[in-house]
Amino acid sequence: MAAIRTLALVIRSVDVFETSRVLTLFTRELGKVSALAKGARRLKSPFQSGLDLLSVCDIVLLHKASDALDLLTEAVLDERYEALHRDTAALYAGCYVAELLDALTDRHDPHPRLFDATRVTLRHLGDPVSRPSRVIRFELACLRELGLMPALDTCVHCGRVPSPDRGDRVAFGLATGGVLCPECRPGQPHVATLSGPTLRAIRALASPGDAWKATWGDPEGLAPVRATVGAVISHLIGRRPRLLPFV
Ligand SMILES: [Zn+2]
Repeated sequence: MAAIRTLALVIRSVDVFETSRVLTLFTRELGKVSALAKGARRLKSPFQSGLDLLSVCDIVLLHKASDALDLLTEAVLDERYEALHRDTAALYAGCYVAELLDALTDRHDPHPRLFDATRVTLRHLGDPVSRPSRVIRFELACLRELGLMPALDTCVHCGRVPSPDRGDRVAFGLATGGVLCPECRPGQPHVATLSGPTLRAIRALASPGDAWKATWGDPEGLAPVRATVGAVISHLIGRRPRLLPFV
């Protein structure tokens, strides 16, 4: 049984027995793990105040090779996101981020870049102007990192660049992984028709650099983007995320 030290975001916490907790942690080095924190609810807990939902802790885990719960032996608070404690909209967005990490990542499958992107996202959720765009940017980063990114430029089936129809619209397979050309569209399930501006906004939100900032403070322009990305995520996890209506 190896002791491993890593940074970890608390994405779920369930009270068990008299004084303990089972935590779902999204860790930088090990990916998602479930760990038992013995005595975490005692007044003099061995974990100080580090184990609040949506806080990042520096932890030591005794990592079990089998399906058994890992054992948390140390936890020290590394970063707490104050905005999540004073702003309900920011808290919902943070809980949505946690729900996605829980639903989309596998146990013991590390994604350090996604961990770092999560921290940056949580740090800025207090800003109501950029928050809706930031959440979508996180979702797209999540999909890219996990190899689930929809095709945004070429037809997901034949690889050709589809020319938009006369109304500047493109077909987009919500369950089949992105843009569809007119030849490949027939017979595909769950196809949405995206306007040119909507597809371009999704591309900007998925790209490095600052182009995505053009979507800030434009709820009308963002609404079809929100609906499209939400539908892609819902198809991937087989249900609508619980907190999706709140972001
Ligand atoms: Zn095609």
